[in-house]
Amino acid sequence: MPMEIGENDDSVEMLKNIHISTYDEDRDNDADPEEVEDLMNDDDDEDDDEVHKPVTLGFLENPKNKWSLLRQLFPSKAGGVPAWLDPNNLPSGRSRLCDICEQPLQFLLQVYAPTSDRESTFHRTLYLFTCPSMSCLLRDQHEQWKRPAVNASRSVKVFRCQLPHDNPFYSSEPPRHDGSDKPLGSGVPLCNWCGTWKGDKLCSSCREARYCSEKHQAMHWRSGHKATCQNSSGNAGNSSAEDQRPASRSLWPEHEIVNEDEAEYDVDVSADLDNTNCLVSRNQMDDSINSLVDSFQGDSDRRSWGNFQECIARAPEQVLRYCRNVSSRPLWPISSGQPSTADIPNCSYCGKPRCFEFQVLPQLLYFFGVKNDADSLDWATIVVYSCEASCDGAASYKEEFAWVQVSSPSQVVP
Ligand SMILES: [Zn+2]
Ligand SMILES: [Zn+2]
Ligand SMILES: [Zn+2]
Ligand SMILES: [Zn+2]
Repeated sequence: MPMEIGENDDSVEMLKNIHISTYDEDRDNDADPEEVEDLMNDDDDEDDDEVHKPVTLGFLENPKNKWSLLRQLFPSKAGGVPAWLDPNNLPSGRSRLCDICEQPLQFLLQVYAPTSDRESTFHRTLYLFTCPSMSCLLRDQHEQWKRPAVNASRSVKVFRCQLPHDNPFYSSEPPRHDGSDKPLGSGVPLCNWCGTWKGDKLCSSCREARYCSEKHQAMHWRSGHKATCQNSSGNAGNSSAEDQRPASRSLWPEHEIVNEDEAEYDVDVSADLDNTNCLVSRNQMDDSINSLVDSFQGDSDRRSWGNFQECIARAPEQVLRYCRNVSSRPLWPISSGQPSTADIPNCSYCGKPRCFEFQVLPQLLYFFGVKNDADSLDWATIVVYSCEASCDGAASYKEEFAWVQVSSPSQVVP
């Protein structure tokens, strides 16, 4: 089972260890898979291209406590609302919209992945957003090939945010994980509907409810704010409370992402068949994955899928594979439609190349309860590439690059 996080050791040394969301493992920095610098003095005698870099797997669990996923605990999480690392300078303008339907993007997951090589990345989190519309994702399939990337209309977006150890938002002491941790300030007020984006539009009637967009204002109005708007004066103050629950019921169900080294699973698969702690049984999961294979055309796609399936079968409930390393490669489910190195645009802030950092697997949709309908959101994998220098730059949330493979090339409309 995925291990417990962060409850038994809170030293600053731990904080400095890079791993998604963990403070309590891998004291040994030499073994750290995410250190890009490690490559330079890699004393492995194997050829880098042939080496399987250690992969950290992400699994979903229900949050242990109601405070477990708050931003001051630097969580990795899926669903619900983002735990914004910088709570003030959120992505704004068009960057928070699906470029295709122009509706606000929905939060999918975030990965806490600090790097120990620099002070400015003491805290570092990547945020992944998608438009919930499958028709937008199918259009996105063509847009992701466009160069320059800034001209592409994307329905999947990634942001990177990082902070030094000493910063205005959090104590320099590591979190105690006992429910008493507090951030240093409250952050900007968020949209009352989605709880995700900055609420920079006020309801003109009560002047309390805040929204990121007219669309979310309209949805809140129809789903109950119409009735409560005039009565809400006197509740002043709650619109700026950061922990106010979003009114929307269509956010993905909230989970904690816990992680474990894939190497832990390099055992005979059959030995682990009766793991009853999983959120779903292995049989359920296999059915859901197997149903995808029927949609593939061509031998190379089937071979590629077979390889993909064999690899994830070691830990079939994994939703995320993390390996930040300039020589690591994603595990592609399908051989067609893979980007070449040239298809991955360089960092738009510093111009350096981007490298693979993590990929999201289709199992996440299963845990989110997404139906298997033709127009339901569906993907084979979403691969996230980030600036290999993890540069600082001016923007607090820097847009990185995502590549999506949908589950069947035949789904891609011409
Ligand atoms: Zn859209
Ligand atoms: Zn909103
Ligand atoms: Zn109102
Ligand atoms: Zn950069």
